[in-house]
Amino acid sequence: MENCLFCKIIVGDIPSAKVYEDDLCFAFKDINPQAPVHVLVIPKAHIESAAAVDGSNSSVVAHIFEVIPKIARELGLDGGFRVVSNVGDDGCQSVHHLHFHILGGAKLSETLG
Ligand code: AMP
Ligand code: ZN
Repeated sequence: MENCLFCKIIVGDIPSAKVYEDDLCFAFKDINPQAPVHVLVIPKAHIESAAAVDGSNSSVVAHIFEVIPKIARELGLDGGFRVVSNVGDDGCQSVHHLHFHILGGAKLSETLG
């Protein structure tokens, strides 16, 4: 996808601190961490947001949710973690390529919104 920051990160046109990669997804450290551990997991296919998930692309989301526990284990998030996906303006989505934030490494705020 032209002019998509995360599509550029996947192909290496923009550098990132990669923590995981396979055929379907890519994970890297958030550049502006909101917790001691803050990783983004993204599908390699360009999907705008969680609002654009349907029967044609949901298998990659299922795959990502199989990968997330592996990443969490590798990052030592034994005490737990949070998975967040912001959608659209009200959800404060700033990059319009579906991504799942993994946040952890400390006791997180009880408030979500
Ligand atoms: P969201 O606000 O949910 O769309 O999340 C986008 C996230 O991407 C934010 O947490 C940003 O800090 C992060 N981000 C933006 N640019 C980069 C980058 N070049 N490398 C890593 N993370 C980035
Ligand atoms: Zn993209």
